[in-house]
Amino acid sequence: MKHFVQFMKSLFLLELLKGMNVTGRYFFKPKMTLRYPEERTPLSPRFRGLHALRRYPNGEERCIACKLCEAVCPALAITIESAEREDGTRRTTRYEIDLTKCIFCGYCEESCPVDSIVETHIFEYHGEERADLYMTKEKLLAVGDKYEVQIAQAREQDARYR
Ligand code: SF4
Ligand code: SF4
Repeated sequence: MKHFVQFMKSLFLLELLKGMNVTGRYFFKPKMTLRYPEERTPLSPRFRGLHALRRYPNGEERCIACKLCEAVCPALAITIESAEREDGTRRTTRYEIDLTKCIFCGYCEESCPVDSIVETHIFEYHGEERADLYMTKEKLLAVGDKYEVQIAQAREQDARYR
């Protein structure tokens, strides 16, 4: 009997008609997919993307080499070396983030007392080799310089949610 039912189903293409019925039902419904990159989903103001080091408006780097971010990083992704400058202030001589280790937890950003290391809303980046994902101080400052306006806006918006 079971084989007979299966034979009849195959004969009248019932499975195919069932499938076509599902296709027909969803054909005119609103689409759940977007045409990325022309269309984008909204991004949370607290989204954590590519890191950046910020400067003050006078061009001075914010980072004071306190190493709190390095100490708090659970993935041990941050490496900092520092030295005293001629004017007596301490600044980093090496600041590196290994993005292949980073888990984007945001602890570095949270711990920074001078709002220097931040995670931007940039997620469209890639590396073709490991070294490309090794963010040096120069690369981090360059990201900060390029996106300072967006970073400042995001920080303001974020503060309103706290
Ligand atoms: S986001 Fe988290 S894991 Fe990544 S560098 Fe900062 S503290 Fe480390
Ligand atoms: S980025 Fe912030 S937390 Fe990290 S060393 Fe510099 S000042 Fe300290």
